[in-house]
Amino acid sequence: MSVRVRFAPSPTGFLHVGGVRTALYVWLFARHHGGTTVLRIEDTDTEREEAGAIEQIQRSLDWLGLDFDESPRVGGPYGPYLQSERSEHYQAAVDRLLAQGDAYRCYQTAEELEVARAEARQTDDPALPSRLHRDLTAEQIAFFEAEGRPAVIRFRTPLEGETVICDLVRGQVVFEHRLLGDTVLMRSGGRPTYQLANPLDDLAMGITHVIRGEDLLPSTPRQKLLVEALGGTFPQIAHLSMILGADKKRLSKRHGAASVEEFREAGYLPEALVNFLALCGWSWDGETELMNVTELIERFSLDRVNPAPAVFDHEKLAWMNGQYLRALDAGAYTVALRRYLEDAASPLADAARLDELVPVVQQKIGAFGEFDALVGSLLESREPDAESWQKLLNDEYAARILDAAIASLSALPEWTVENVESALRTVCEELELKPRQAFLPIRIAIAGSTVAAGLYESIAFLGLEASLARMQHARAALADV
Ligand code: GLU
Repeated sequence: MSVRVRFAPSPTGFLHVGGVRTALYVWLFARHHGGTTVLRIEDTDTEREEAGAIEQIQRSLDWLGLDFDESPRVGGPYGPYLQSERSEHYQAAVDRLLAQGDAYRCYQTAEELEVARAEARQTDDPALPSRLHRDLTAEQIAFFEAEGRPAVIRFRTPLEGETVICDLVRGQVVFEHRLLGDTVLMRSGGRPTYQLANPLDDLAMGITHVIRGEDLLPSTPRQKLLVEALGGTFPQIAHLSMILGADKKRLSKRHGAASVEEFREAGYLPEALVNFLALCGWSWDGETELMNVTELIERFSLDRVNPAPAVFDHEKLAWMNGQYLRALDAGAYTVALRRYLEDAASPLADAARLDELVPVVQQKIGAFGEFDALVGSLLESREPDAESWQKLLNDEYAARILDAAIASLSALPEWTVENVESALRTVCEELELKPRQAFLPIRIAIAGSTVAAGLYESIAFLGLEASLARMQHARAALADV
């Protein structure tokens, strides 16, 4: 049987790190086995839905290069792939379960349920409140109906026995039926719950393997019972551990970027993020860190997924991104950089000489997000950074240094990085200053900031005319010596 795996996000927000790691494992598993990837959007919970989230999720997956063979966008033989368009499937299943006696109408009001729950807390049967309408008499039902009470549909969970889940990551997990309670399958307005729609769609879409976060483990026995009541076979299942921040607390905004979009905006390469996320809970040989996507597909297996929580290490990701960036050849680097700048709607995206700056920045920056601050002012003229400018104004040697630099650079016979370097070294010698001291005002004059790329390269890039103009402009701001 060919492998069919799905990623089934709810459009309640951006694709965050945990979700995208799930998507990646789903995708790697399917590609490793030559199977099919299915993207299904679980949009039954309209209250929690966020506008634009579906597009956002799709965009993040596209950017990462995770393509789905079947999805709302490309369609497929098991569609529709939006749960909001599958209502009749859910209703048909509920009708069948009701007819079989595997589901029933529950007329409890929210207040009644609340009271029952409070009472049950003191007992050894915490699931009891969910079953109170399980065996209503015909008279009781008639009474509630006559009262016009709305009803939810609950699953009739066996009272005895247990369900054993053979999780592909966690091994056997046993659930006592008595503690599961009678799961709500459909809300009173006819809207299906996650507990109904999710396993039903897995069944209808021929899903062979479910790979998802461990927060959904408690749902698994309920979903298995439901699928079996409908005569189906429950798919094989793997629950992935949580991803924690470096402080071992659940990963959240506090720990820095947590959504794919944020990493994209910061200028990470999708290849690096994919590599990094693959290692958040999986390893190949316990050692190898850098693996491209072809290697990941070849090597990925669920039996090497770690059931212990993974720790999201931002520093390691930054390191890895730097490795990927430095390994690109100049052409690929320029293309990726330009794409990043376009994405960020930066005017620098159109800079004709972008490629000339690649050698200046490639070994220096760990993410494209640093590009603008480092060399943006070489590509367009900008107001200098105020703090740096003040340093220039306060520098007692600045006027002398700039005068000497202007003289020495203007006299160069040929404009090369080497010549610029030797001209500036001569300035240091003449003024008997250390390069660190002498170059500060020049750097501020040239780049408008103390944080800048290599000085010689920057000057060489700007050319004689522009470099002199910038130095003269700075010089004019200083008093004569
Ligand atoms: N839609 C569920 C969620 O986003 C995931 C369902 C699943 O993978 O089983 O939490």
